[in-house]
Amino acid sequence: MTHRRLTLLGIVALALCWAWLPEFTVTLISDIGLYSMVAVGLVMLTGIGGMTSFGQAAFVAIGAYATAWTCTSPVAAAALDGVVSASALPWVGLALGLALTFLVAWALGAITLKLSGHYLPLCTIAWGLSLYFLFGNLEFLGGQTGMASLPALNIAGFSLASPRALGPLIWTLLLLSLWALHNLLDSREGRAIRALKSGRVMAESMGVDTDRYRIKVFVLAALLAALSGWLYAHMQRFVNPTPFNINIGIEYLFMAVIGGAGHLWGAVLGATLITLLKGQLQDILPKLLGASGNFEVIVFGLLMLFVLQRFADGLWPTLARWPGRLLKPDPVRLPNASVSLASRSLTAAGALLLEADKVTKRFGGLVANNAVVMTLKAGEVHALIGPNGAGKSTFFNMISGVDDPTEGEVRFIGERMNGKPSRDFAARGLGRTFQHVRLLGNRSVLENVALGAHRRGRHGWIASMLRLDRAEEAALLAQARRQIERCGLGEHADTPAASLALGQQRVVEIARALAGQPAALLLDEPAAGLRHQEKQALAALLAQLRAEGLGILVVEHDMEFVMNLADRITVLEFGTVIAEGAPAEVQVNPRVLDAYLGGIDEPIQRAA
Ligand code: ADP
Ligand code: MG
Repeated sequence: MTHRRLTLLGIVALALCWAWLPEFTVTLISDIGLYSMVAVGLVMLTGIGGMTSFGQAAFVAIGAYATAWTCTSPVAAAALDGVVSASALPWVGLALGLALTFLVAWALGAITLKLSGHYLPLCTIAWGLSLYFLFGNLEFLGGQTGMASLPALNIAGFSLASPRALGPLIWTLLLLSLWALHNLLDSREGRAIRALKSGRVMAESMGVDTDRYRIKVFVLAALLAALSGWLYAHMQRFVNPTPFNINIGIEYLFMAVIGGAGHLWGAVLGATLITLLKGQLQDILPKLLGASGNFEVIVFGLLMLFVLQRFADGLWPTLARWPGRLLKPDPVRLPNASVSLASRSLTAAGALLLEADKVTKRFGGLVANNAVVMTLKAGEVHALIGPNGAGKSTFFNMISGVDDPTEGEVRFIGERMNGKPSRDFAARGLGRTFQHVRLLGNRSVLENVALGAHRRGRHGWIASMLRLDRAEEAALLAQARRQIERCGLGEHADTPAASLALGQQRVVEIARALAGQPAALLLDEPAAGLRHQEKQALAALLAQLRAEGLGILVVEHDMEFVMNLADRITVLEFGTVIAEGAPAEVQVNPRVLDAYLGGIDEPIQRAA
């Protein structure tokens, strides 16, 4: 039995006994389906994409009100009279709801998603409240009383008036959404979405347009909420503002977080738990406390505290572990890699790749880089050394698009790059690693490395959802596996990146950079944390890459490593270049010896 089979079995079992379930249960299951749809969107947004929203109820409202207005307003009736039949009105309502949601979500996303930290959640509360009050005050939407007498949905003459008839449609749409999102996450685009959570810098360096992806995830979650709202409106046949207030927005977030913020099925679990619990609490608490009110919200809050204390990832991973022991993993079915990935023609050895022309960076009064001049050619290893705080990492940021120089110019393969984002550097062939490792810790080494090949694929979201990307995906994963093996981590390809030693994680970053087929490679302290043998293996790998024509710029503290490997060395001190040349020249340079006096000058002698 595999996971997939068990899921299918559950669905078939539910479908078979659907006709015999009591009315109450049928309504409950339908409700859970509606909530799950919103919560699944939130899992994508919050758990996977790293953006918190308290305002999803507002998008549910747009979906519900759009169809209510289309189906009941005289204005809509006059406009659509003769164009569509009465039974098709709900479908027009759906189209209108999705279109409006798309526009509103895109606009809100464009304004708010750039905000960092807790400003984004605060903003979602703000527009959640605004839209709620807007719906309650618009005369043509019925104000606080709302709109009644919505028609039932009707498919091919079959009326879906009761929950027993509508429930299967709700769950079909939910399961289709889960399937599509599962496919999306299991693709090149999914890796990019997951990368959003670990911050802008890493994802951008892999060529991911993070602003665009954030907005797309946001819109996707909003569309799922609107779809749920549409179904809800035709189940209740009545719409008013109450079910869309900010409390409900918070409940949706509870569902996603308690169930398992990073897992799609966690949303269904969370929606089920909260819905069942809410029903019970609404019965019990008022009796217990002798007063009426929304006391369940308090319990939900405490529950969330407890769950997040004990199960940081929500309840789903714990729950799934139990049958997980008995189940076999789903077989990975990928076609033989036959498509070829986008690739770059090799740069001629000796060609100029990177040029820093009098690059200066000031942080307030501090000059972190002072008119630094440096070049990197194809087929050489160029080392950048200097004491702590000399400005090496700052310089790396200048020449990789993470930050912009205050003065001076950065050119990459002949093109002026000032003001361009990291992903433009990546697109032109710059690969890099980070001083502080930036991997997706709970994803496999293979997935992490495949992210490096992101730009080399071209299938988008829809194709990934529909599994039209399989040949390309196979080629991307094969490419990733090749780079992992080449870097000597073949046996760890399928282990989570976080379970590797820190030194090995640095090597994973190198493999990830190589998967993008770079022309130039920037390595920030790649040998830190490696054992002696691993350092030798790394040096051999870098020497081989150099022979293949890569230009490698490396910041490294291990002088033996640097002196044996580098063709040229640039020495920084207080942001200024104090020496440049071959290792033999640099290590006898009096200014360099002076800068390192007492510190690292001894290893320099030893390496000589
Ligand atoms: P290195 O990598 O050579 O150890 P850095 O480039 O990290 O040095 O830092 C160079 C100097 O710039 C240090 O004095 C550091 O405190 C300062 N610095 C680096 N980044 C910033 C920043 N974002 N804001 C202010 N000062 C910074
Ligand atoms: Mg540094």
